[in-house]
Amino acid sequence: MADTVELPSRLAILPFRNKVLLPGAIIRIRCTSHSSVTLVEQELWQKEEKGLIGILPVRDDAEGSSIGTMINPGGGSDSGERSLKFLVGTTDAQKSDAKDQQEVHWHSRGVAARALHLSRGVEKPSGRVTYVVVLEGLSRFNVQELGKRGPYSVARITSLEMTKGELEQVEQDPDFVSLSRQFKTTAMELVSVLEQKQKTGGRTKVLLETVPIHKLADIFVASFEMSFEEQLSMLDSVDLKVRLSKATELVDRHLQSIRVAEKITQKVEGQLSKSQKEYLLRQQMRAIKEELGDNDDDEDDVAALERKMQAAGMPSNIWKHAQRELRRLKKMQPQQPGYNSSRVYLELLADLPWEKASEEHELDLKAAKERLDSDHYGLAKVKQRIIEYLAVRKLKPDARGPVLCFVGPPGVGKTSLASSIAAALGRKFVRLSLGGVKDEADIRGHRRTYIGSMPGRLIDGLKRVGVCNPVMLLDEIDKTGSDVRGDPASALLEVLDPEQNKTFNDHYLNVPYDLSKVVFVATANRVQPIPPPLLDRMELIELPGYTQEEKLKIAMRHLIPRVLDQHGLTSEFLKIPEAMVKNIIQRYTREAGVRSLERNLAAVARAAAVMVAEHEQTLPLSKDVQKLASPLLNGRMAEGGEVEMEVIPMGENDHEIGSTFQSPSALVVDETMLEKILGPPRFDDSEAADRVASAGVSVGLVWTTFGGEVQFVEATSMVGKGELHLTGQLGDVIKESAQLALTWVRARASDFKLALAGDMNVLDGRDIHIHFPAGAVPKDGPSAGVTLVTALVSLFSQKRVRADTAMTGEMTLRGLVLPVGGIKDKILAAHRYGIKRVILPQRNSKDLVEVPAAVLSSLEVILAKRMEDVLENAFEGGCPWRNHSKL
Ligand code: ADP
Repeated sequence: MADTVELPSRLAILPFRNKVLLPGAIIRIRCTSHSSVTLVEQELWQKEEKGLIGILPVRDDAEGSSIGTMINPGGGSDSGERSLKFLVGTTDAQKSDAKDQQEVHWHSRGVAARALHLSRGVEKPSGRVTYVVVLEGLSRFNVQELGKRGPYSVARITSLEMTKGELEQVEQDPDFVSLSRQFKTTAMELVSVLEQKQKTGGRTKVLLETVPIHKLADIFVASFEMSFEEQLSMLDSVDLKVRLSKATELVDRHLQSIRVAEKITQKVEGQLSKSQKEYLLRQQMRAIKEELGDNDDDEDDVAALERKMQAAGMPSNIWKHAQRELRRLKKMQPQQPGYNSSRVYLELLADLPWEKASEEHELDLKAAKERLDSDHYGLAKVKQRIIEYLAVRKLKPDARGPVLCFVGPPGVGKTSLASSIAAALGRKFVRLSLGGVKDEADIRGHRRTYIGSMPGRLIDGLKRVGVCNPVMLLDEIDKTGSDVRGDPASALLEVLDPEQNKTFNDHYLNVPYDLSKVVFVATANRVQPIPPPLLDRMELIELPGYTQEEKLKIAMRHLIPRVLDQHGLTSEFLKIPEAMVKNIIQRYTREAGVRSLERNLAAVARAAAVMVAEHEQTLPLSKDVQKLASPLLNGRMAEGGEVEMEVIPMGENDHEIGSTFQSPSALVVDETMLEKILGPPRFDDSEAADRVASAGVSVGLVWTTFGGEVQFVEATSMVGKGELHLTGQLGDVIKESAQLALTWVRARASDFKLALAGDMNVLDGRDIHIHFPAGAVPKDGPSAGVTLVTALVSLFSQKRVRADTAMTGEMTLRGLVLPVGGIKDKILAAHRYGIKRVILPQRNSKDLVEVPAAVLSSLEVILAKRMEDVLENAFEGGCPWRNHSKL
């Protein structure tokens, strides 16, 4: 900072409107008015050395006029407003400068300033010259007289700066010393506050150390924003002590205001709601991530998840729970353990249909019946029961009727009936396969504390189907078993219980879910394994399996059209004649249902599809398909040799072929083609005859999960200690039956005097081995009793059993034949095998009404009361022992 400068007695005056330039301050101004431009040009621009000018504050507002009057220019008083008043607009030049014709008040004190920098500009397009001037305030002066030099003012002035001597004198003054100390402390404080805030101020501190105190006061004050009045009073503080105390006051005030502002900010920050804070933090995190370059879209995903959750319509208590979890998720980093599981969990909550339901339209029973009829052949009783069920639902939609359970072998249409119910109710359909479910957690889910925990199948099924009122098929409910991992059946019990299923609790979900809107339907292969409490909640509807005729009809009406459709074929391309379907039924499948039949038909359709697709490639799809048709096809088929078929040439006058492709001839399946596609026939009726070609083999009828089956029993004997060997994966009951059978035969043998050469009983000193073929399939149950005895008798008598006769029945130790279950299935199985005679327990005669008449009429049914009756009918010409004993 320059030392005190010598001021000239006259200075060109630049008016500052409502503004003050204090000594030590630096200001940058732009001069555009005629007077100021002329002033700059003449006083500064054209002068070699940088000249001095005077800056004089001007008050041009109306209120100023009331305060200020022109008093005694040059007066020594440091207080009060001093101004020089005169009317603007006395000259033309001033007219153009003044904004209006108001009185302006020149302040009587100003500051001499030095131009630090000057730059000249020419405005386009007017060509007006302007200057930008950087001025530094130097020292105060007093205006003695104000005059004009051209368009601008000049003043005669006297300096108000103290001489060196005066200064030294003041510095001795103890008041001044304490004032300046006070000022310095305050200023220091301000500097450090600012330093903290803005991390600057190092230079300001240096300033405090080096600059003389009287200048420092001006410099500090000049750096704040102050009112014009305050600036004026600072300018007027010529006396050093006054100036210092004023400056101290202003600096202190500024300091306070900074502190207050800080406090307010803190307070406001404290009041920012938590969520706002979170938002801010999140924004910061996002910025950091962006910076790190690993900005994935998690943020958006979470937002999307939140939106989805809001739209899910959860009950309020669950919504609260979900929000809690969501807040937890938001606080986590994606890499953090638990983030993913939390997220998957929330996704599940959002996906579950809490209130979304398929709209249930008015149930039309007639339409439902039509639909059932069109989807399924036969099954009149079953359909009737379903209609009754639907009718009850229609009358009382919230009726807690029993759960329908379709029982029967595979492929008899249990699943498709259930889906027809869904269609009739206009609801969505979802199937849960319970086969092999041994763990309760499969139904109820695992708690989320486990790694890899999941919801149970029920909740999963609901998520998949996306509505809360679907028809849910609990498939193979008899195949759930209980073990150490809990009892799935008891969980199912809760599901099916209308009292409990309103608040079904899945361990994973951990909030109750209302299952009461779900319509449950179950299927089972067998009734026996279903736990009684579960059975209690269900109404069983049995589907025993189809006769060959029924299968044929099902195939012709339902399976073939569907299979063709699935393979993109029509009956125009592929014809499967009835005889061939029969062939498939008899020689390629032996099942109660139609699943394997459907598979075989599909295999035929696949092969045909390949051929048709090849046609399309080789044959130009044009109008002259006709001409090409038969020779080409014939040739191709012969050449390919894969599948032979009958090619029916198109009629001579069959000329109109549309633009769409039409096969020149339909492929008609014949026996040779069948064998090519399906291989040699797997079954034939002579099987039983072949198997019983030697003595010791009998034909039984058993009941399996696949429906009725024909089961051969083989017995043989060898020298040994009289032991009984059993093979073929037998259960305890069947083993006991075998024991029983042997005991009975032994006892009878002596009765019937069944002895060979001399006194030696054939049964003495011999081991017996009984085998049930299809050794890999587990077998159990009491109904093989009569078959076992027959096999043993055949063995010992060395007489063959009739190949056309099959039997079933439990036997007591005394030789009574007891009734058994599954008669209808067993008779159907016998029919499938081409068996002509069936021996049944007498007390099963009531079951015969269930057997389709057509089947019954093709078989001879023999009812047996005692074992002897069975033996009598099992052998050609009656029981061999009787003959023997007669001898
Ligand atoms: P399940 O559930 O009893 O094992 P599905 O319902 O899966 O048997 O039936 C197997 C196939 O047989 C399905 O394509 C089904 O449409 C068909 N089907 C079974 N019974 C009939 C029937 N009576 N009429 C028409 N199609 C049937």
